Amino acid sequence: MLAIFNSAERQAATLRVALIGKKLTGLAIDESVAISPKLGSVVEEVRVFGREIEIIFDDLVVLRTKLQFRGMWRIFRVGDWHKRSRDQAKVVLEVEDRIAACFKVVEIETHHDFDPRRHPLLGRHGPDLTDSKTDLELCVDLMLGYQDADATIAEVLLDQRVMRGIGNVFRCELLWTCELHPWAKVSSLNRDECRELVTIAAEMLQSQHATRDRSLAVYGRHGKNCDRCNGQIRVTHHGEANRVLYWCADCQTRHAGTSSSRYVTEHDTPPGVHPAEFIYLSELERTRKSG
Ligand SMILES: [Zn+2]
Repeated sequence: MLAIFNSAERQAATLRVALIGKKLTGLAIDESVAISPKLGSVVEEVRVFGREIEIIFDDLVVLRTKLQFRGMWRIFRVGDWHKRSRDQAKVVLEVEDRIAACFKVVEIETHHDFDPRRHPLLGRHGPDLTDSKTDLELCVDLMLGYQDADATIAEVLLDQRVMRGIGNVFRCELLWTCELHPWAKVSSLNRDECRELVTIAAEMLQSQHATRDRSLAVYGRHGKNCDRCNGQIRVTHHGEANRVLYWCADCQTRHAGTSSSRYVTEHDTPPGVHPAEFIYLSELERTRKSG
């Protein structure tokens, strides 16, 4: 066993290092839940509220565990994982090289994350880019007519009212493929550029079965070198949910000049630091300031 931690914050920090950016390869939940995380989905965030820990997947399924006094998450290396632990665990999440298991948890719940930009009830859905018959021109019109002129391309790609099918991992990869600065204003793109972006997105999403396991160009590659320009991949976290965004500042320069004021370099994870650790330290800092 790698670690036993008592405080929920510490458990969450350990879970982040072990799970964020990795694909779910195995799952067992010892209770019936409303929605099950899907195998192949990627762990995007781990949040903590008191003794509750939430694990958020890139399709926005949230797994919430209420730990109360005795509940705890533990991380195992694959070779250290035994049947006895499996029998006692209430939740088991397997990724490539680690197994996260939760014991003595009192309540397990799953739901879809509530993000107003991505929530279907707050507006009409945009076209589904995973559907080959979808209307891409409508998507282009919705981008060109986007009401918030200061909104960034990175934000609009996740706005379900404009287009559907793009998760956070895919968003990072798409921005890199198109060499777009993530914080460029959506209003700086002309019709041809919007069309190019949604066409490439649709092609990539619709061929995802063939490319499910293709290696990622930027996501999870913080501090590594960019395959295109040899620059260093950076990661920044932003928004209330601390969603991470990986990108190459050296070659993702299209429309960089229009970069929105929402791009703040202080949210960049410094080289050599794990983004999960940086988020944890930033949260501690904020807690100290507010306390
Ligand atoms: Zn690059």
